[in-house]
Amino acid sequence: MAELVDTHAHLDELEDLSAAVEHAKRAGVAAVISVGQDLASNIKTFKLASAYPGFIYPAIGLHPWSLGNMSPRVLEENIAFIRDNLGNAVALGEVGLDYDKRVLKGAGKEQQKDILRCLLELAVEFAKPVSFHSRYAWKDSLQVVMESGARRLVFHWYTGFSSTLSGLIAGGYYISATPAAEYHDEHRRAIREAPTERLLLETDCPVHYGREEKYRSEPADILRSLKAAAAIKGISRDEMSRIVRENTNRLFGI
Ligand SMILES: [Zn+2]
Repeated sequence: MAELVDTHAHLDELEDLSAAVEHAKRAGVAAVISVGQDLASNIKTFKLASAYPGFIYPAIGLHPWSLGNMSPRVLEENIAFIRDNLGNAVALGEVGLDYDKRVLKGAGKEQQKDILRCLLELAVEFAKPVSFHSRYAWKDSLQVVMESGARRLVFHWYTGFSSTLSGLIAGGYYISATPAAEYHDEHRRAIREAPTERLLLETDCPVHYGREEKYRSEPADILRSLKAAAAIKGISRDEMSRIVRENTNRLFGI
């Protein structure tokens, strides 16, 4: 099996990181891209990455969930930190749009899009790939991304429409598979429809997965993403791991 890379994890939210790193290495994980979601999380992500050089790669961002009632001053501090530090990160992320009712209450569609345009401009300026969140906002996400000129981007944990998926594939973008690929119909459909050359693997840990029995994920659960995605594609885990390793290198340069 080729080396596994968890391309989207929130390591700053894990309770016992050293145990999780050990489990991950035992499972064949060679690297993890840890994404930040606001100023504090971005700072912590850099710290974690320097504690595990060559294993944890930091991405910094501003998640739509973090925007709720953020003051203009704090928003500016968040963006300034990203501008000053993106050069030292492997990617911009997590950023994106989220049109869930509860998220929209804290930050409307236009506000989310304005902030996102600002962030994507930085990704273009620093020539960094992007780890992108698009829940319930798939069409607008693709439009803003295409207009921004960002070329290297993954729609992480994609569960959106087939029509938007065709558009994002035509645009040269990627999607990533989480452990929800074991049971979630829309996610499974997206993985089936996307070319294998545009698939990545991730855990989005510490997200809770599972239908009947829920578990709190960590990077070692990338094996579930791998097995499920390989089964959907009807190829061996070996072959799947080899293809996604190349895809990861192409997109993130690691
Ligand atoms: Zn995430």
